[in-house]
Amino acid sequence: MTATLFINGQWVPAASGETRTITCPADGSEVGVVSEAGADDAVAAIAAARRAFDSRVWADVPAGERGDFLLKVADQLSQRKDEFARAEALDTGKRLVEAEIDMDDIIACFRHFAKLADADAGRIVDAGDPTVISKVVYEPVGVCGMITPWNFPLLQAAWKLAPALAAGNSLVLKPAELTPHTSILVMDVFDSLELPAGVANLVTGAGATAGAPLSSHPDVDLISFTGGLMTGKKIAAAASETVKKIALELGGKNPNVVFADADFDAAVDNALNAGFTDSGQVCSAGVRLIVEDSIKERFVNELVRRAESITMGGPFDAHAETGPLISAEHRQKVHAYVQKGIEEGCTLRCGGHFGGEEHTAGSFYAPTVLDGAKRGMYVVTEESFGPVITVETFTTEEEAIAIANDTVYGLAGAVWTSDSGIAHRVSSRLRHGTVWVNDYHPYLPQAEWGGFKQSGIGRELGLAGFDEYREAKHIYENTKPSVTGWFRMPSDIPAAELPQT
Ligand code: NAD
Repeated sequence: MTATLFINGQWVPAASGETRTITCPADGSEVGVVSEAGADDAVAAIAAARRAFDSRVWADVPAGERGDFLLKVADQLSQRKDEFARAEALDTGKRLVEAEIDMDDIIACFRHFAKLADADAGRIVDAGDPTVISKVVYEPVGVCGMITPWNFPLLQAAWKLAPALAAGNSLVLKPAELTPHTSILVMDVFDSLELPAGVANLVTGAGATAGAPLSSHPDVDLISFTGGLMTGKKIAAAASETVKKIALELGGKNPNVVFADADFDAAVDNALNAGFTDSGQVCSAGVRLIVEDSIKERFVNELVRRAESITMGGPFDAHAETGPLISAEHRQKVHAYVQKGIEEGCTLRCGGHFGGEEHTAGSFYAPTVLDGAKRGMYVVTEESFGPVITVETFTTEEEAIAIANDTVYGLAGAVWTSDSGIAHRVSSRLRHGTVWVNDYHPYLPQAEWGGFKQSGIGRELGLAGFDEYREAKHIYENTKPSVTGWFRMPSDIPAAELPQT
């Protein structure tokens, strides 16, 4: 019997008995069969999380011990790194080496929030009156719903799980339906470390059925979502009915701005890295190359030359430099997107087709460069979430900034220059949550991650990523109660005005 839902400390099948077969996007092979949760399973998981939270079984564990628990999770993940990385690589099709890097980041995330668990219990506030004790304390928010995408399945979950548990919350996780295995494995780690039943729950299944109750159910206090903009809007609308706390990490249309004075080889190399790592299925992918007019031809020629030599392959192919897209349907969408760019007037410089003969069983798509892109085009405003770089040009610094900020998104961007003045001015004025100068993609668990504008609400990681999972409470204690004198005392009121008792 397939029982991959983790509800109230038990592994259970979907109430309907339904299952889903997970396949590897690199070759279509079967990876495993998981339970397909429905809305009733999600509601059962929410009820378990609610009971666990209301019993205070985790919230009242001393914060330092919650931190110790997260350290043990990190240790277990280190010991089981190969098993986790393999599972992630098979579900997503990404190269094993990339899944291993994800695992290192996941472990670092748990260690980061372990440190924060008891680092800041609150503060005393000067009430200006020695008889008053006024303090601000932090409490867990309550039951947290977590909905995650398929591109970095456990990494995106870890950014939510670790701070939520550090702060003493209970939770229900709903991973993307195509990539559930590492979420199942992490619940196994929590279980083996004897996290009290009901504190962490898992439902594997589709968004509209297993995910939707997390954003609408009144017993969920916070919904944290990472995924696409349209889904994020639906979730925010549903969550607003019960005024939940909302944390959204949505998409990006991220500018990679290259000035003529940049280190040419490093900028070209990182432009490839920015746009084609993980086949562009990265929310912060640098897919809008905005290059200074004077070096544009040389830059794009070199970019295309290198893009054409990128080797595609499955997770365990030692020669592969990039993997497949998540599914055949997604590849079809990416291909239609590229066609639209050509119809809009872009020049296809490379790619624009499926992977070669040797890749027919997988959903591979060749690294693609669309030259001659202009502001306002569909391919410049909409995400493809595939290996597609568009090229725009600029002549002045002001123009570069204006182009880079001309998007409804604001997740990430980069500027390449050897002039520290340009670096400072441009990085200060980019309206994006992360800005790299002469680099692309690194992030740190100690630093906040999140989006300006329609790239999201709130922050993950850093200090703010912990605060998302805490409520601040002000406790004002009068140690010497006295009569306020605000309303007249009975002794001051004429007898005729006093009600007769
Ligand atoms: P998606 O929005 O289709 O799905 C994300 C998750 O939402 C999945 O678990 C899905 O099952 C669930 N879902 C779908 N409909 C739902 C509904 N009505 N109610 C509740 N849950 C629902 O996104 P995706 O295709 O899995 O991921 C790609 C998107 O995620 C891209 O737009 C990308 O930019 C974004 N993303 C953002 C970040 C970030 O940090 N900002 C990170 C990774 C991915």
